[in-house]
Amino acid sequence: MNFSGEIIFSPYLDAGIVNEDSNYDEFFWEILQIADGNNEGYILSKTLKTEFHVGTAMKISIELNNEKVEVSQQTKLKEKSLTYTYKLTVAEGDIATLYKYGSYVSSLNYKKEDLIKAAFSNVDVASQLGFEQLLNVQRNSWEEIWHMADIVIEGDIKAQQGIRFNIFQLNQTYLGTDARLNIGPKGFTGEKYGGSTYWDTEAYCIPFYMATKDADVAKNLLLYRYNQLDKAIENAEKLGFTNGAALYPMVTMNGEECHNEWEITFEEIHRNGAMVFGIYNYVNYTNDFDYVVNYGLEVMIAIARFWHQRANFSKAKNKYVILGVTGPNEYENNVNNNFYTNYLAKWCIEYTVDCLERVDNDYSEDINRLKTKLNLTAEEIDLWIDVADKMYFPFSEEHNVYLQQDGFLDKELIPVKELSKSNRPINQKWSWDRILRSCYIKQADVLQGMLLFEDKFTKNEIEHHFDFYEPITVHESSLSPCVHSILAASINRIPKAYEQYLRTSRLDLDDYNHEVNEGCHITSMAGTWMSIVQGFGGMRVWEDGILRFDLQIPKEWKSYSFTINFRGNIIKVYKSQSACNFYNESDNEIKMIVNNNEILIPSNQYVKV
Ligand code: BGC
Repeated sequence: MNFSGEIIFSPYLDAGIVNEDSNYDEFFWEILQIADGNNEGYILSKTLKTEFHVGTAMKISIELNNEKVEVSQQTKLKEKSLTYTYKLTVAEGDIATLYKYGSYVSSLNYKKEDLIKAAFSNVDVASQLGFEQLLNVQRNSWEEIWHMADIVIEGDIKAQQGIRFNIFQLNQTYLGTDARLNIGPKGFTGEKYGGSTYWDTEAYCIPFYMATKDADVAKNLLLYRYNQLDKAIENAEKLGFTNGAALYPMVTMNGEECHNEWEITFEEIHRNGAMVFGIYNYVNYTNDFDYVVNYGLEVMIAIARFWHQRANFSKAKNKYVILGVTGPNEYENNVNNNFYTNYLAKWCIEYTVDCLERVDNDYSEDINRLKTKLNLTAEEIDLWIDVADKMYFPFSEEHNVYLQQDGFLDKELIPVKELSKSNRPINQKWSWDRILRSCYIKQADVLQGMLLFEDKFTKNEIEHHFDFYEPITVHESSLSPCVHSILAASINRIPKAYEQYLRTSRLDLDDYNHEVNEGCHITSMAGTWMSIVQGFGGMRVWEDGILRFDLQIPKEWKSYSFTINFRGNIIKVYKSQSACNFYNESDNEIKMIVNNNEILIPSNQYVKV
């Protein structure tokens, strides 16, 4: 700007990064090869346990006043890093530009021996295209993404910024073209959770990808689990289950369990239910029942087998019980009869049996194929049905609510608002001993079940449970506020829904839980999207396959609008304080139910409701 002198650039590749969230300073990488060259270099490395081979290349070019210049390079080659130093003499007013092109390739997509060649060839292609053109490619791709995924909120900048930040991050994380890939709770924004996959995908993420992309994307997420079924069966076998019962891992990279706390891996078995819920949700939304026939049922049968074996008959209760579990609320462990888990177990069996009947009626060849492949008999199915029919649910007559678990009422029920600020968040201020004995709920648990199966409860019941559990919920999991926001909207508590919406959508921007240094909460961002589309927009698709909306709007907003892809048809939804419009951007007439009235929208037409 106002100075002439020497600029030193030192671009580098460094494979010696120490992970903050690692297991006790363990080093994850072995460096296989580092090589330097003329303005380019690479590092080939592999992860120790999973043996992923990764090739990383860089290529540097330097411009002075927008003209390429050759600057001599000094090389520093260390055991784990490669640094080039360039010294450039510049005069006042000059523009010096450094381009660093990077390429990352892994053994998922290339033979190990071809990785270096591939890394170089990618970096060459990128540098030939040049920065401006790469930027244009990005712009065009993002334009397409925003066309489908954007949500516009008028009159509330905080809320608008929140949702766009969330939508951006979700698309940065997962595009859905490869069934071997999935979504980590932190995406690529932080080390926590190590990039592994959780139940978050099925319980939270699928609706977002289903409605803003083609159905193939959600299908790829489901196939990810189908392809890992053998590992889930192996995982259950390790715990003593038999006959093809499957327990999907709580956390995984390649199908194997990779969480390291027993109260999660052995006890947080509700995740198995989410696997089936993901299939159910997908089939309701897309009508692709073939998925169930060709893939889904194998997963569902293995999970039904698990629930049948995991439950035991209690003579005292004359019902089946599920003992020693952790529900979604990880602020209690080793509890008996977590309502959410028991409910899912019963529902999984019933849904599996329904699907089996449908396949029996309509796909006779497939039913025989499945029964033979899986050694499934009518007698076995009857045993599952017995468990489902006689499942126990803890219920309090006094409070008229299902209890989170058998011993829940033994706890001291003190509302969160009576806790002083200095105690919050409790997971940073209290010992585990104190947390586990407290009534405080980390994240929606009974209410999670009521959201997933909302059509099976009355509004009155939901209201009751909301009033019982919301005051003792601390929302110290990012996955919590969105659930409360959607439920609050569904029982017409719009101010509450709005408060929880802001919390979920601005969780990372405003760092509510004082932990954004660990990374952004990518999977809960899909929950944020749901809290607009399903919460204020009231969008639902249950088993009857009917698209429903029940639109409301917070008083803080002038209007909001979003777009969905429903079975290949693009529908735009707009709601203001006084109006509600739909635009059918597809070639087909669309039937839906809006605020309890059936409406028909002709192709390429607006309808005001
Ligand atoms: C939550 C889990 C969730 C995980 C990853 C935890 O804090 O309790 O339900 O799967 O984070 O998002």
